[in-house]
Amino acid sequence: MKREAAVCICQAILFWLAMGGVRPAGAAEDWDPVRYQDRDYVKAADLAKFYQFTMTESGREVLFSSPTIEMRAVMDSDEITINGIAFLLSYPAVRANGDALISRVDLCKLIDPVLRPAQISEAEDFQTVVIDPGHGGRDSGSRGLADEKVYTLDLSKKLFTQLILRGFKVKFTRIDDEYVSLRERVDRANEIDKAIFVSLHFNSHESSKPHGIETFAITPPGARSTGNRKPEAESWRGNLRDSESIALATAVHASVLTSTNAADRGVRRARFFVLKGLNMPGILFEGGYISNPEERANVDKDAYRSLMANSIADGIVKFRGALQRKN
Ligand SMILES: [Zn+2]
Repeated sequence: MKREAAVCICQAILFWLAMGGVRPAGAAEDWDPVRYQDRDYVKAADLAKFYQFTMTESGREVLFSSPTIEMRAVMDSDEITINGIAFLLSYPAVRANGDALISRVDLCKLIDPVLRPAQISEAEDFQTVVIDPGHGGRDSGSRGLADEKVYTLDLSKKLFTQLILRGFKVKFTRIDDEYVSLRERVDRANEIDKAIFVSLHFNSHESSKPHGIETFAITPPGARSTGNRKPEAESWRGNLRDSESIALATAVHASVLTSTNAADRGVRRARFFVLKGLNMPGILFEGGYISNPEERANVDKDAYRSLMANSIADGIVKFRGALQRKN
């Protein structure tokens, strides 16, 4: 089958590049990688062909559509939307010699695992969700109507209930108002087998304007984190499971946006300490800006945090189902 034969576009392209750009005979797919400004790209037209999308270009925008997916990229922008959900690319989409191009890193580390989570080769099933309530003890986090550490612990306990109801096991990195270092959080998580990691936070900004939900997955090796101009070459332990992490981030982010109607600030990339050292898929979820008056009032409502916990749990169920849906 065509899709089966091309299970890893990414490896095929790596191989092609390793051969110095000489296409190996019998390559499974018609990818025509492009080297542009010292970076590897694929043509949007090849991407459309592979995923059986109809591609429509209009000005700087490229729309990829199928009966179930609508993906929108804008040239020179580092944001892409997939079924209305915003994702921050590692590198902006560009146009060169008339072709719209998407970076290979974004194809392999974002678009493919998000569109085809069942094809993530290293994916493993999990029974346990490690919940990491952000901050605690002498580290209060941001300040809203209450401290961030109070909201994160409450959201964590609500999420615990929802996950138990859905048949998961749950572990916490902290259960009381105690200070736990970032290293200790990672160490506590890594002791658990067959698990995923969900760190819960609320956001803050010096301006009261920013509002909305952000979900972070670890930055791919060699790429730059969201909002950061400088790429870092290192690969971290957390990168071993980064395809699962971006799929988990997508499922949780989409689920929370749908239920809360909060603003979408995108699935983002960062090398947060708690994500770098994990030996399991992990995300850091920011449930809104408590520096924004409207969002602060929402976050302070018990019912809003319950809704959020419920939808995070639904997202985790969707992620698990997507991994198991092998073609
Ligand atoms: Zn925080």
